[in-house]
Amino acid sequence: MCAQLIDGVAIGQTIKEEIAKEVATLVEETGCQPGLAVILVGDDQASATYVRNKEKQATKVGMKSEVIRMPAETTEEELLEQVEALNEDETIHGILVQLPLPKHIDENKVILTIRPEKDVDGFHPVNVGKMMIGQETFLSCTPYGIMQLLERMDIPVAGKHAVVIGRSNIVGKPMGQLLLQNDATVTYCHSRTKDLASYTRQADILVAAVGIAKMIKAEDVKEGAVVIDVGMNRDENGKLCGDVDFDSVEPVAGAITPVPGGVGPMTITMLLQNTLESAIRASR
Ligand code: NDP
Repeated sequence: MCAQLIDGVAIGQTIKEEIAKEVATLVEETGCQPGLAVILVGDDQASATYVRNKEKQATKVGMKSEVIRMPAETTEEELLEQVEALNEDETIHGILVQLPLPKHIDENKVILTIRPEKDVDGFHPVNVGKMMIGQETFLSCTPYGIMQLLERMDIPVAGKHAVVIGRSNIVGKPMGQLLLQNDATVTYCHSRTKDLASYTRQADILVAAVGIAKMIKAEDVKEGAVVIDVGMNRDENGKLCGDVDFDSVEPVAGAITPVPGGVGPMTITMLLQNTLESAIRASR
């Protein structure tokens, strides 16, 4: 048996085309152009690449895109002042501070300073709380993107046993919550879980968000399961790979996301979706 490939590039492209159309309509009808501001502090190369990509894709769908580059020695106070200025800027609907930040800056303080109405990453505690109780909010982009992959592939979630490996605030925890809200029965696993495979083998939907290259093998997966690989790791040859050993798991799974080309492209796509939703709310 061969698993159905969940193509995040193609699905992400379709969603971006939908976003571009909605942006054009919004501009035409209200004169409001969605604006995304990204703050990059320091000179981490990986972060710089992510930010360039976000800028490029936002522009491509017709949004205003602003990147604010600040030196590594920026003080916490200077960064908070910059966030406050963007909070007040009516042309900006989404603010994102690229993480990680230099060690002398308190990430939580920065996230708390972003106005929840502009927190398109969905990291502010107000938005996390709203997600927990099912109110309209900005959903954390990676789990939101995974829910879109499942929906657009017509993969049913209700009544399924979803096992999420990982409990980070940005991926694992919100992932489980969104699956729960869509009526899955959810099990969380993490580094202290005993006999991990005894859980993963029960999963109808298995989400791996750990950060260990190829840790999930064929024997850890139930025949026909939907396998979602969030991991972004380097293998022994320096090649990008996921948490799932794709070659061994693909013949067992019912459907599977590749790395690259699965979950990754959806994260930026949903950031654009959140920015669009923010602009729509602001223009009401
Ligand atoms: P974190 O390091 O914050 O969390 C990793 C989680 O994995 C923790 O909950 C940890 O458990 C758990 N874990 C660690 N080791 C094991 C183990 N041996 N068995 C079971 N669970 C384990 O990472 P993130 O959630 O931020 O990211 C996870 C992965 O996803 C990374 O590879 C990251 O690069 C990638 N990622 C990809 C994105 C995309 O767009 N494709 C977006 C964001 C992340 P504990 O809590 O006990 O420490």
